[in-house]
Amino acid sequence: MIKKSEKEWRKILTPGQYRILREKGTEPPFSGRFVESDKKGRYVCAACGNVLFDSRNKYDSSCGWPSFNEARKGSVEFRDDRSHGMSRTEVVCSRCGSHLGHVFDDGPKPTGKRFCINSLSLGFREQE
Ligand code: FE
Repeated sequence: MIKKSEKEWRKILTPGQYRILREKGTEPPFSGRFVESDKKGRYVCAACGNVLFDSRNKYDSSCGWPSFNEARKGSVEFRDDRSHGMSRTEVVCSRCGSHLGHVFDDGPKPTGKRFCINSLSLGFREQE
């Protein structure tokens, strides 16, 4: 588990990343750089580098954010989110606690999950 003060996170992250990762913001739909990407590789936490998603689990949900039907085992944690008058499940990085997005139950088989993740919360390591 990585623990940093918010002051330290501000130094490491861009203002846009900080707004989402540390203040639970949401980037505008279809604005993120990974929405349309179909490159092969692994998606990591933009704050700490924890490997979160494999491109094999990415799919086109048309929701405007990068979507995955599964996260790497143990890489994320879930929290009840009752903000904005909705009941949702927040997804956070298990290593640094940063906000990634939300998970919904309308994804494709076999998991039926839709991890709806902000591009700004992610980095990408392309596979050779
Ligand atoms: Fe992280």
